[in-house]
Amino acid sequence: MNRGRALIKEVLAALVVRTGIARATRAWLWRDRVAILLYHDPDPATLDRHLTYLRNICELVPLTDVTVPSRGRPRAAITFDDGHVGNAKLLPVFIKHQVRPTIFLCSSIVGRSRSHWWLHPGSLEAGHERLKRMTNTERLAELAAHGYHQDADDRATGLSTDQIEAMRAHVDFQAHTRFHPVLTRCSDSECADEIGTSKHEIETLLRDACEHFAYPNGNYGDREVCFVAAAGYKSARTCDVGWSDHRSDPFRLRTIIIDDDASTRRFAAQLTGIPLFLHYLKKGGGWKGQFPQF
Ligand SMILES: [Zn+2]
Repeated sequence: MNRGRALIKEVLAALVVRTGIARATRAWLWRDRVAILLYHDPDPATLDRHLTYLRNICELVPLTDVTVPSRGRPRAAITFDDGHVGNAKLLPVFIKHQVRPTIFLCSSIVGRSRSHWWLHPGSLEAGHERLKRMTNTERLAELAAHGYHQDADDRATGLSTDQIEAMRAHVDFQAHTRFHPVLTRCSDSECADEIGTSKHEIETLLRDACEHFAYPNGNYGDREVCFVAAAGYKSARTCDVGWSDHRSDPFRLRTIIIDDDASTRRFAAQLTGIPLFLHYLKKGGGWKGQFPQF
């Protein structure tokens, strides 16, 4: 992000916090529901600051608390997508703040010498946004032409098996497909495999039930919801902005995406959901806070 845009974001964040908008959204929108926060690969110091702030304004709960009726206070569940290797450094922060986050793993990337496709240099060359809009077959062919093969040995960008084992007492690991395709660009058989096999791979890795799913890139439709339910998951988190509770559709749980490097002031502003809502609106997501699908 360039310096000018970063400064504008900080000024807007200060406005949201100082004018009482942050407190008002907590009272009127968040209320006693669960804010499912979505991170990717934050550094430990930033996450520590965010959680310190959060503990003063709400209760930190595990993701499964979404199905538990309200106790009258705002709640927040912490989630991470993809299973980045950097997540291993967050363990002391989880322990310090006594949170049990959920990390949604790409089950055929973690625990191996493989790379998430968008972190491979070939993907940068081909252009991320362009690749996301291709059919899955086209995307994989284009990536292969740039030297990336999703099931070949490469630089490990995911958590190792040892790291997952060391974290599991404090972390809930769940599924985020096998290789992180855009599901709405997959054929029926690719989609069913990415969703169903991911569940089995996580269960084999953890020797425990895998019951929760997160849609890669936030792309999903009725077909993906049907496949997730048919595979036996109990819930799925989208990238649609908002709060969730026991009355929510369990396969369309809403989220608040947090910038991994957000200052505490910007974090406070992002918790209102307003920056993400406006971002989606600008991209054509509509008035219901839905991720702009393509
Ligand atoms: Zn992801």
